[in-house]
Amino acid sequence: MWSPPRWKCDNPGRRRLTHARSSNLLIHVSSELKLGMYKLYSLLLLQQIQFVEDKQEFSRFPTKAGRRSLSRSISQSSTDSYSSAASYTDSSDDETSPRDKIQVNSKGTNDFCVKNIKHAEFGRREIEIAEQDMSALISLRKRAQGEKPLAGAKIVGCTHITAQTAVLIETLVALGAQCRWTACNIYSTQNEVAAALSEIGVAVFAWKGESEDDFWWCINKCINMEGWQPNMILDDGGDLTHWVYKKYPNGFKKIRGIVEESVTGVHRWLYQLSKAGKLCVPAMNVNDSVTKQKFDNLYCCRESILDGLKRTTDVMFGGKQVVVCGYGEVGKGCTAALKAMGSIVYVTEIDPICSLQACMDGFRVVKLNEVIRQVDIIITCTGNKNVVTRDQLDRMKNGSIVCNMGHSNTEIDVASLRTPELTWERVRSQVDHVIWPDGKRVILLAEGRLLNLSCSTVPTFVLSITATTQALALIELYNAPEGRYKQDVYLLPKKMDEYVASLHLPTFDAHLTELSDEQAKYLGLNKNGPFKPNYYRYTFPC
Ligand code: NAD
Repeated sequence: MWSPPRWKCDNPGRRRLTHARSSNLLIHVSSELKLGMYKLYSLLLLQQIQFVEDKQEFSRFPTKAGRRSLSRSISQSSTDSYSSAASYTDSSDDETSPRDKIQVNSKGTNDFCVKNIKHAEFGRREIEIAEQDMSALISLRKRAQGEKPLAGAKIVGCTHITAQTAVLIETLVALGAQCRWTACNIYSTQNEVAAALSEIGVAVFAWKGESEDDFWWCINKCINMEGWQPNMILDDGGDLTHWVYKKYPNGFKKIRGIVEESVTGVHRWLYQLSKAGKLCVPAMNVNDSVTKQKFDNLYCCRESILDGLKRTTDVMFGGKQVVVCGYGEVGKGCTAALKAMGSIVYVTEIDPICSLQACMDGFRVVKLNEVIRQVDIIITCTGNKNVVTRDQLDRMKNGSIVCNMGHSNTEIDVASLRTPELTWERVRSQVDHVIWPDGKRVILLAEGRLLNLSCSTVPTFVLSITATTQALALIELYNAPEGRYKQDVYLLPKKMDEYVASLHLPTFDAHLTELSDEQAKYLGLNKNGPFKPNYYRYTFPC
């Protein structure tokens, strides 16, 4: 039986990134109020808020001739190559654009556009495999079976469409939501998974290898459905939010909440809109929640850096000299993995605190120029630009590898390598030899794009943590009583972060110690949490 999640009982609160407040200022919701909130949800369900005046706008459909005019320059995040699990349909020689195909699922509906609906069965197997390591979402489904906390929610989503995302989408549906989905990246869609979702009635508009025009067409198809207007947005990168904001401003105002996963979307759109006073709906910044940042960025990269390097180069790590640029969450994950494999690891940093951490963790902190001639591998993870310059690439030794784990492909100055005197040789998918006139070769991976997302898979369990955070953020925003969230960007309430973590503990058969009354009083804590103040920094030994 679904009981109201613990976060609703105490200090559900608001955590604004810009004005962090202590938890004791947060709203306390009594059980009476809780009951009232549920009544409110039911009322909202009955009312089924409709954006009547926006219907025209949401229904506007771009003509083929007008497609170009709908496009703006495609975003960096949408072009960052991302290939997750092996794709059954990758090798398909069917060149027909899905936009030109007429497809129906087994129920006879055609409100979707995917590569090939006939591959749905294979996608279902992929989703089942992902479910095995996403037990928190499955248990959320079971808990919510009766209550359906997302009943009436019409969620439009723009994320990578992979087996793991499918588990999230199917959880949202099980919690009562109607979903329409599109891809945030033109390369990352697992075609068979998109087919499996379309087969069960989720309107998916996405396929691997979309053009820029397809990308915006898919986003528009997702929003633009006769008689269906979204009331929630789940975004990864901000493109969907931007599209709705620009093309359907009246509909945008009626959105009840936006949940954004990526650092780009949060900082490129949400905070900028908020700063300009143009954010007219509450938004949840999932990127900076503890359960995303401290797990996805660190643990995901700790595992996938080795996978990405191994798959592309077959490199042996033991004894290799590696320099990792940036000792933030991603850098800490990468250095820990490489150190454990016997590599000699150097770190570059601009921040004295992170530098000191690196020193205390046993790494030599250097300037890149000090080691550039001797290292075998350079890995950037700063979120900055031009961290490795052409001059430094010129000085790298023959056979060395250069790659990036940060969000954008500008950390390594790849553009500077596209000059006539250098020869590019594609040796494997996502692996280029850049050859200097004297015969020196540098191995560039994924053309400087995110290595792990381009060349390896990422661990499902970590994605489960992020997906659970997203699901709870949607539930929280959708069910929040009026006034709890204003037109601003919020962090997930601490209790929800703790709840996400607690849902994942059974996987490890971990047994939490409970505070005694005396101990709780001594520490000034509620026995059920939150256990840390908002300013607490969770540090992780690597
Ligand atoms: P972070 O802010 O914790 O760490 C970045 C570090 O780089 C900081 O300590 C900063 O001081 C340092 N830095 C900045 N400029 C530098 C320079 N010129 N030289 C050396 N160090 C420099 O961020 P993070 O969470 O570690 O994320 C880093 C990047 O990785 C971001 O772009 C993020 O979006 C991306 N990311 C990638 C993945 C993935 O799966 N590959 C996962 C999460 C985040």
